[in-house]
Amino acid sequence: MTRVYRIHRVGGPEQLVEEHVALAAPGPGEALVRHTAIGVNYIDTYHRSGLYPLPLPAALGMEAAGVIEALGADVDGLRVGQRVGYAVTGPGAYADARVLPAERLIPLPDAIDDVTAAGSMLKGMTAEYLVCRTFPVKRGDTVLLHAAAGGVGLLAAQWLRALGARTIGTVGTEEKAALARANGCDETVLYRSEPLVERVRALTGGRGVDVVYDSVGKDTVALSLDCLRPRGMLVSFGNASGKPDPIDLLTLGQKGCLFVTRPTLHVYNHARSEMLASAAALFDLIARGAIRVQTRTLPLAQVADAHRLLESRTTTGSLVLLP
Ligand code: NDP
Repeated sequence: MTRVYRIHRVGGPEQLVEEHVALAAPGPGEALVRHTAIGVNYIDTYHRSGLYPLPLPAALGMEAAGVIEALGADVDGLRVGQRVGYAVTGPGAYADARVLPAERLIPLPDAIDDVTAAGSMLKGMTAEYLVCRTFPVKRGDTVLLHAAAGGVGLLAAQWLRALGARTIGTVGTEEKAALARANGCDETVLYRSEPLVERVRALTGGRGVDVVYDSVGKDTVALSLDCLRPRGMLVSFGNASGKPDPIDLLTLGQKGCLFVTRPTLHVYNHARSEMLASAAALFDLIARGAIRVQTRTLPLAQVADAHRLLESRTTTGSLVLLP
């Protein structure tokens, strides 16, 4: 048996209920992982609210670190007792232990402790594909990064600093602005009180930015388009304020032949080789001190509180649950 947090219907954080379910032995190609640290991600709230529908009942949680307790047949390159993490797989991480496809497991280097792994894999591999592959940022590019003090935000800001970009970060409060600047943002905009487009135009001498990384969605996508230079790219990768409204293709021409993409980690790191390369790049930057992972831990039993905190815009960095 294992403890697991599931939903039986979509709704608020109160829908997350503790249950004890049987844990099957791992089948061919599978591994049983005993979790030591579990990452909380905004996508977990989309699964819970029904924005991203799941068959019910559903165990939530997309990311964890832990130790391999048993291996099924036909698994190469992994061993019982090995420290591993995962972040590109189906939901079910809010549990003490779990069986999952071995090919989704990422061996953890000694330099990366379990809380750091659970606080950085999903968000940090997202930062990697966004800044290195979706719009490959070059030294001297100017970037607008929304929610720059959040989980993905702090990791992406530090990655952009390592690439030599000039980053303008949006944040909800003065405290978050200071944190974002300490972690790689050159400038910050308090987008709840300041006029975003005017500030970005002023900061870029009227030109606009090369790329916008927008995870806020509904409240910001239209503004983000107006912050771009001609032929710049909007990367819409999240919906923290709700699902963005549709974009009229003709407006992209009128606003300067803009590019728009809507990427997901699942597609960018679907191939095991790409996932391992993405994780290796992240772990290397952490081990070299170029990226510091800021985590706050809570007991797994407080998973509903973790959702409340994340959705109330009061968190910075990554939330990690301890089984
Ligand atoms: P964050 O820690 O960034 O939390 C979300 C932040 O969004 C808040 O702290 C808040 O920052 C900001 N925000 C703006 N408007 C709202 C609102 N109405 N309600 C709540 N928050 C709001 O979360 P994560 O790091 O886990 O995820 C960040 C985003 O990245 C999410 O949108 C997520 O879906 C997306 N994502 C996408 C992936 C992909 O592959 N497409 C993969 C991973 C994450 P502030 O107060 O400063 O405005």
